[in-house]
Amino acid sequence: MDEGTSILVGKGQESQTVVERRKGKIQDDASTQCNKVGLECGRDYSCEFITQEIFKSREALIKWARDVGRRNGFVIVIKTSTTGRHGKKPRIILGCERSGCYRNNRKNREVNTEKKMKLTASKKCGCPFSLLGKNLGTNNDWTLHVLCGVHNHPAENFREGHSYAGRLSEEETSLLVDMSKSMVRPKEILATLKQRCDLNVSTIKTIYNARYRKCKRAERTQMQQLFAQLAEHKYIEWHRKCDDTETVTDLLWTHPTSLDLLRAFPHVLIMDCICKTNRYHMPLLEIVGVTSTEKTFSVCFAYLQYECEDNYTWALGILRSVISEGALPSVIVTDREITLMKALSTVFPGATHFLCRWHINRNVSAKCKKLFETKEKWDRFIISWNMLVSSSTKEQFTQQLVMLNKEFNTYPEALEYVRCSWLDPYMDRFVAVWTDKSMHFGNTTTNMAESSHAQLKKELGLGQGTFESSWMKIHNLLELQHTDIKASFKKSKTVVQHNFKPSKFKELRGKISISALEKILVETKRANSVGVDQDACGCVIRHTHGLPCAHEIAEYIKEDRPIPLDCIHPHWCKLDMSATATPKSSSMELVPSEASDGSPLKKLKTT
Ligand SMILES: [Zn+2]
Ligand SMILES: [Zn+2]
Repeated sequence: MDEGTSILVGKGQESQTVVERRKGKIQDDASTQCNKVGLECGRDYSCEFITQEIFKSREALIKWARDVGRRNGFVIVIKTSTTGRHGKKPRIILGCERSGCYRNNRKNREVNTEKKMKLTASKKCGCPFSLLGKNLGTNNDWTLHVLCGVHNHPAENFREGHSYAGRLSEEETSLLVDMSKSMVRPKEILATLKQRCDLNVSTIKTIYNARYRKCKRAERTQMQQLFAQLAEHKYIEWHRKCDDTETVTDLLWTHPTSLDLLRAFPHVLIMDCICKTNRYHMPLLEIVGVTSTEKTFSVCFAYLQYECEDNYTWALGILRSVISEGALPSVIVTDREITLMKALSTVFPGATHFLCRWHINRNVSAKCKKLFETKEKWDRFIISWNMLVSSSTKEQFTQQLVMLNKEFNTYPEALEYVRCSWLDPYMDRFVAVWTDKSMHFGNTTTNMAESSHAQLKKELGLGQGTFESSWMKIHNLLELQHTDIKASFKKSKTVVQHNFKPSKFKELRGKISISALEKILVETKRANSVGVDQDACGCVIRHTHGLPCAHEIAEYIKEDRPIPLDCIHPHWCKLDMSATATPKSSSMELVPSEASDGSPLKKLKTT
């Protein structure tokens, strides 16, 4: 502690005016000191620290001063602090951590290593910078005054690894405990802290130390609590741990009823990653299935450490392990997450992979809309693009592509984008001419999953929850979902709508879902004009939904027999949650391959 400040503390009981007068004296002293130590690199920072603010506590004052110090590249430390006994008001003197001199005494020399001495010695340079905090005697209000604004050394640019600057605030420490008790790795904790506050200069070591001190016990017990919750509600969970620590890196969990639903409706799966669902920004993978009643259900959830192939492969591997070999998904819809696509081709090589059209359109819009001068022109482009995407024959596709290229040849950038990013690499995964050869039950987008996501995102609030609170919200959502699905089964089994009274539906009523009946009704109306002509029919609903198409229905009508139940894909006949054993040999399961019709439809394993 230098002389100037000790004088001031000693005379703490003096009147305001005396202190103010003394301040001038101290500043003179400080200047002298600055000259002595070397003012060539010194600078007056007074204006940064002059404030009229009334601080609500001593801590608020210290925090403010430290923040300003940090911003300017200095570390502010407490030099002296008086509690204000015997009628005196409390005061505090703050200074620069480089004030004072290194005492190179014999004892230190013996104890310290040479390196440590050098480090410590180089820090202290008698910096005269000092601030005075005064309690006003009412409501714990404090004011701050600059005693000496001069630092006699340059500001530090690189502040990481600094003893004080790296220290965590109380708020940060509690966030750290929260994150550690869940399963965030130190590296991510650090990233989150830095994201929250760009002044945070903590290093990975700070995090490890704080973790070790603060939350070793809390972490274990909190983690056990989360797992206890899962166990109590009979969830099934899988997790991975970091090799060298007890930190859980990935966690996948599923509700037993969700598993039943998956085994009952395994044909089409929709996968999507929701990011920023909680304050740790850990990606949450949701896998969604669709019932015969066209209700979506959550198959499972997984918190993944990263959106990397390895993490996806791990999660999908678990999913695969709970599905029987005979009931693997035949169609999987995702957005263009390359790492997820790679993992899919490894784990489900037999499944046909679709890219979500809705996501593609969102990307096209984000990239290309700005290239068009008018809204009318842009609307024409996106309509033309959507016509291309919904082409049902190869001829139609070629024709639409020529038209698109011709009409928008003055927008080479937009054409280039849709060609290079979507058509060339992936057209067989989203253009109708190819997707309509697969049994996708109408799921060519992740839209259905998306709407359940919207619900989930709302449930998860503004992304500020902890893992445990997020889990509780998901849990409540699942219970609602299961109730809703059971109700839809019951309705399909018992309610007979007027439209389905005609005798041609008599074998189907109550045996297949109302959603399927409605689609058959549309085809029945088409049967009147199409007749038994297979070419005129096109048979899309047969290929995509496993439902009788117009020409088939026309034949049943001609023969005057009801539409038989066995021409309906088992997916639509399933009106409960027991597992199905889908006959793998069923002709309706067949996906046309390259050999049979020359289409470029590729199975995942070949790409
Ligand atoms: Zn200084
Ligand atoms: Zn047909």
